[in-house]
Amino acid sequence: MEKSTPQAEALMRSLPAVQRLLEEPALRELQGRCGRDAVLSAARETLAGLRAEILAGTLALPPGHPETSGPGCQPVASGTPDLCPEILRRVAERVLRRCGSGVRRAINATGVILHTGLGRAVLPAAALQEITAQLAGYSTVEVDLASGKRSNRDATLNDLLRTLLGCESACVVNNNAAGVMLALAALARGKEVIVSRGQLVEIGGSFRVPDVMRESGCKLIEVGSTNRTYVRDYEAAITPATAALLLVHTSNFRLIGFTEEPTVAGVAALARSRGLPLLYDIGSGALLPGLAEELKEEPIVKTALDDGADLVLFSADKILGSTQGGVAVGKKELVEKMRRHPLYRAMRLNKLTLCALESTLRLYLDPEKRLETVPTLRMLRRSLASIGEEAAALATRLGRACSGLEALCVEDSSRLGSGSLPERNIPTRVVSLRHGKLSSDELAAALRAHEPPIFTRIQEDRVLIDPRTLLPGDGDEIEKAARGLQAG
Ligand SMILES: *Cc1c(COP(=O)(O)O)cnc(C)c1O
Repeated sequence: MEKSTPQAEALMRSLPAVQRLLEEPALRELQGRCGRDAVLSAARETLAGLRAEILAGTLALPPGHPETSGPGCQPVASGTPDLCPEILRRVAERVLRRCGSGVRRAINATGVILHTGLGRAVLPAAALQEITAQLAGYSTVEVDLASGKRSNRDATLNDLLRTLLGCESACVVNNNAAGVMLALAALARGKEVIVSRGQLVEIGGSFRVPDVMRESGCKLIEVGSTNRTYVRDYEAAITPATAALLLVHTSNFRLIGFTEEPTVAGVAALARSRGLPLLYDIGSGALLPGLAEELKEEPIVKTALDDGADLVLFSADKILGSTQGGVAVGKKELVEKMRRHPLYRAMRLNKLTLCALESTLRLYLDPEKRLETVPTLRMLRRSLASIGEEAAALATRLGRACSGLEALCVEDSSRLGSGSLPERNIPTRVVSLRHGKLSSDELAAALRAHEPPIFTRIQEDRVLIDPRTLLPGDGDEIEKAARGLQAG
């Protein structure tokens, strides 16, 4: 048994009773979400753990922990740290780990609009409302209202995409990686597919064009060189075993310098003259021209179709701004082959995605409204003036919230993210934070420990908060988190 010091005794006395803890508003809220038993057992375990640490003299409070008593669980003697915030933090951490809410609301202050770690595109509010309204009970997922017979689950998506893009047909699967695999398996299994060496990309998360090609049962025929490929290179590689030509958007990198890439129209003309389909994995998939000035270097789905691509494949949760999904649009004959392939059944959409995606595409039908109601487009288009105003106001609030914080409003750049526009910095204004006693890593960790967690960007030993990706109410939460930080 360790010898207990007066400090340890004071700390032991300051520990609140379990029943008292359960009445804390933060833990009451947790009981509502995760049940009383989960919170009770987490509170008991946390207190037992703290007692052991106090006795062993190993209690270490995290950086940013207030030294003096705040509005804690119970009054503490002066000179004794108020353990309450730490207790609440530890209990919440235990409960949340246990009650399985792995996916939680988070605040994205990174300025990366399509942040893969934070779930890529923010769903439009209309899509969320539709999910709650239409999926609360049974729903017409795969049934034809007029006849009462079974139908295709993506029939409405098909209609919406045809209306928006003027394409012959469309089908949708779980993500774009699945869409590309399905297209290759359905259209070219056992045959050759021609791809430029400059487009044999790895997208991340192990999506590599040569591997996808092999797994789909196709033979990859590489043409051209890394930096220069011409239409005549594709032409020279066509044999009776060729099933398709494939273009892949090099989403996440740029070839610069002595480079040559054939145009979509150029390769499409060759494909048409040889009776071969041209498939185009466009990746990020800005649906239509003119959605945002920032997208002018991104390939556009509608333009690719107009240029003669026979099948265009793209993600639904990148620039389109919906939920995870893989969309294939183009010639009816090709789409039908995908739909009839056994893999289609293994990759088919679930009703949550179906509902969210239909709802997002309906927003696109209104050229004015879509720019405001699809969060990805709204964030991308937000004016520098409006971001600057928000950054300046937030900097003032954060500077006041914590005496240890220096908060400056400075110029910086946002990113589209998810491999789109890799070289493109989108001008923004950020709040640049430095804490008198915490390193930038410690400050960022303290902000992540807030509920909801706040994700920031670290640059040159400062923590940056970019208002471009903040949603209404996020500023208040960041201010609240700042107030909980150690004083300067
Ligand atoms: C993102 C991307 C993919 C993968 O799409 P997911 O929807 O994430 O599966 C495939 N190809 C390209 C070119 C991409 O940019």
